Amino acid sequence: MPTIKLEVVSPDAVVYQADIHMLVVKAEDGEIGVMPNHLPMIASIIPCAMRVKHEDGREELIACGGGFMEVLNNKITVLASCAETPIQIDVLRAEKAYQRAEERIKKFKSAPLVHTDIDISRAEAALQRAIVRLKVAKSVGA
Ligand code: ATP
Repeated sequence: MPTIKLEVVSPDAVVYQADIHMLVVKAEDGEIGVMPNHLPMIASIIPCAMRVKHEDGREELIACGGGFMEVLNNKITVLASCAETPIQIDVLRAEKAYQRAEERIKKFKSAPLVHTDIDISRAEAALQRAIVRLKVAKSVGA
């Protein structure tokens, strides 16, 4: 079965590298699946649990905080603002981030004109990252 190289890079490190069967990521207008010998492409990725499918049918999830994906010469490069594999995720930290973001959003929505100090887009993005991390962490050993 043909494969395609995948490299996921964050500002801190090369988070993941493998020869894979398929990568599924989320873009603004829906999911994009990339398989071997895909045409060259650049896409913007939104925060998501990227799905890595292997030749033997195994599937792995990688948390991505958003970024860009380039497909060129049978290689996928994901340049992510942050990315973590399941074992790199601190579940407690993600749970705390989830609670914090949810509380901020609730507070803002209850009285938007009072809580002008709350950056609602920032809180919503933090909530999204936490949801993705918790989903990815739960994808192993369950
Ligand atoms: P927090 O409020 O807990 O910092 P955050 O969503 O604001 O969460 P980010 O700004 O997305 O954090 O990430 C900052 C750095 O910390 C990145 O390198 C990211 O990979 C890492 N990181 C964030 N949350 C976790 C986590 N739960 N487990 C492991 N690494 C994390």
